[in-house]
Amino acid sequence: MNCIFCKIAGGEIPSNKIYEDDKIIAFYDINPVAPKHGLVIPKLHRASLNDLSEQDADIISHLMIKIEHIAYLMGIKESGYRVISNCGDDGGQEVPHIHFHIIGGKKLSAKIV
Ligand code: AMP
Ligand code: ZN
Repeated sequence: MNCIFCKIAGGEIPSNKIYEDDKIIAFYDINPVAPKHGLVIPKLHRASLNDLSEQDADIISHLMIKIEHIAYLMGIKESGYRVISNCGDDGGQEVPHIHFHIIGGKKLSAKIV
C-alpha cells in the first residue's frame, strides 16, 4: 500500500519521532501550525474515523490513553494542548491514514473553525 504514514510506521520514511511502541507511533508534523505540533497514528492502517470498527477499540483506546505521555514528551502536558482528527474532504483530511494532531506550545484560538 502506498501510504506515507504506513511507511513512517514501518521506518521506510524517516520522521522526527516522539514516541513509539508496538501499536502506535507519534512524530512531529513536518508543517507545524503551532510551536508544538505532533501526530499520533496507529501502526495498523485505517483510513479515517469513518473506517474504525469495534475490532479497533483496543488500539484506539491505547492511542488515546498514550496521548498524555506523548504530550508530556512534547513538553506541553501541563500547559495544555488540542487534539484534532480531520476526517474526509470537508474535515480537511490530506493523509488517508487516521491520525490525531496534538497541538500546543501557545495559547490556541478559542474557535475551532
Ligand atoms: P491532515 O490534513 O489532517 O490529513 O494532516 C496531515 C498532516 O500530515 C499535515 O499536517 C502534514 O503537514 C503532515 N505530514 C505530511 N507528511 C508528513 C511527513 N512525512 N512527516 C510529518 N508530517 C507529515
Ligand atoms: Zn497507512
